[in-house]
Amino acid sequence: MAGMTHEAVERLKAHMAPIVDLYAAGSVLSWDQQTHMPPGGGRARAEQLATLRRLSHEMFTAPRTRELLEAAEADTARLDPDSDEAALIRMTRRDYDRATKLPAEFVAERTRAQATSVEVWRRARPANDFALFHPHLEQMVGFARRTADYLGYEDHPYDALLDLFEPQMTSREVTALFAELRERTVPLVRAIGERREVVDAAFLTHEYEEAKQEAFARAVVERFGYDFSRGGLARAPHPFATGFSRDDVRITTRFDRRYLPSAVFAIFHEAGHAMYGQGSSPTLERTSLAGGAGLGVHESQSRMWENLVGRSRPFWQHYFPRLREVFPEQLADVDAETFYRAVNRVSPSLIRVEADEVTYNLHIILRYELERALLEGTLAARDLPEAWNARMQEFLGVVPPTDADGVMQDIHWSAGQIGYFPTYTLGNVMSAQLFEAARRAHPALMDEIGRGEFGTLLGWLREQVHVHGRKFFPQDLLERATGSRLTSEPYLRYLWQKYGEIYGVAPERTAVTGRA
Ligand code: ZN
Repeated sequence: MAGMTHEAVERLKAHMAPIVDLYAAGSVLSWDQQTHMPPGGGRARAEQLATLRRLSHEMFTAPRTRELLEAAEADTARLDPDSDEAALIRMTRRDYDRATKLPAEFVAERTRAQATSVEVWRRARPANDFALFHPHLEQMVGFARRTADYLGYEDHPYDALLDLFEPQMTSREVTALFAELRERTVPLVRAIGERREVVDAAFLTHEYEEAKQEAFARAVVERFGYDFSRGGLARAPHPFATGFSRDDVRITTRFDRRYLPSAVFAIFHEAGHAMYGQGSSPTLERTSLAGGAGLGVHESQSRMWENLVGRSRPFWQHYFPRLREVFPEQLADVDAETFYRAVNRVSPSLIRVEADEVTYNLHIILRYELERALLEGTLAARDLPEAWNARMQEFLGVVPPTDADGVMQDIHWSAGQIGYFPTYTLGNVMSAQLFEAARRAHPALMDEIGRGEFGTLLGWLREQVHVHGRKFFPQDLLERATGSRLTSEPYLRYLWQKYGEIYGVAPERTAVTGRA
């Protein structure tokens, strides 16, 4: 009944809270490791992290959790499925079943092998030595297959792995979505390729002082609504966001003095992740519902602020004059329109993390196809460079001169994270779908952005996405917010409109099968 306290649920929450605390404490240690820890601290820190993770895992998989969970399930069977209580039990059940399906010995063995594999990758990449790395990669594929077998799946082992990062998404859905994206993006990339000279971005590589870059980007994300009294910005080798509670969600970045967009857009991106965390409902704190619905939804938030807002024309019409006050010499001969076009330059490139909006997803689709082939056993790890380079040629028309800039560029596979990559593209697709829905609800949204006002957008996201934390599965959340499940249409519309206009490319000709 509404308003009634369910004692069994309260007992489960009391049991789970310290487990959530331990997990958050581990995240603080990792954050410190990547931002402030001296190099000498690495060995002890690895032990400390392992201890915290082991403690929280043991507490969570203990029989006591099952007893409390079963009691709560019995107590709340007739509860509104949309209530916090019902969602809490649903998600805790899901986490519990998954955590107890993997034997502790297997997890320990896998963790050790992953640590070695990452270590070897760190040496192999700069040495461009794929032969050194591929036996470890082969091992990681083996662990991924066994993980899928333990977790179980209906269709394809990939489903079990994908579900770890993108709850309830199937490989069949991803394959269909990616086929459509690929089919309708490659022609745009080709058309742009013939008109590359229309965008000049050379001035972005002048010298831009770090402190000034930081001050500018901080002021922008503060206007977005990132609350620095519950957050912070530090430097790290790779930009990331991490949260320990809704009232402490931090971001990091790195700076490149010779390429202005690098840090500026990384800060927009990470602030998007962080605002998601800051917007989660206080009632979900210290429960397994704190956090995000999945990696795809998380990435939709970062990509929205980075690209749909931060790389939009209205945004730079407002902010370019301010940026030029900060860098008067570097931007002396540049106007807002030129700047807008420069930060949206499309250029097929070798490295995923440097890719523009149009080509980015092709990097992901390539990885996804290779992951599936590795899992199926139709591709051996040792043959990866050849398969990689062939697809780079086919998708993007560029071939990496070395494996370091090809198959070995990302850390994910070395750490055994197979099934993770699709969430980047899912996030891009979701970002456009959500943004379209926000604009439908608030037709003057782009005008507000053109005045440097972001409260309406953030308010809509808070209400539709952030406040729910991890309560709903990603597709259910999308459906509630946008009226439909995941669809590539808004994203493809966005890409063709924006980039067609910038590059003077004729509108997309889709194969519409009309009636004669
Ligand atoms: Zn991200």
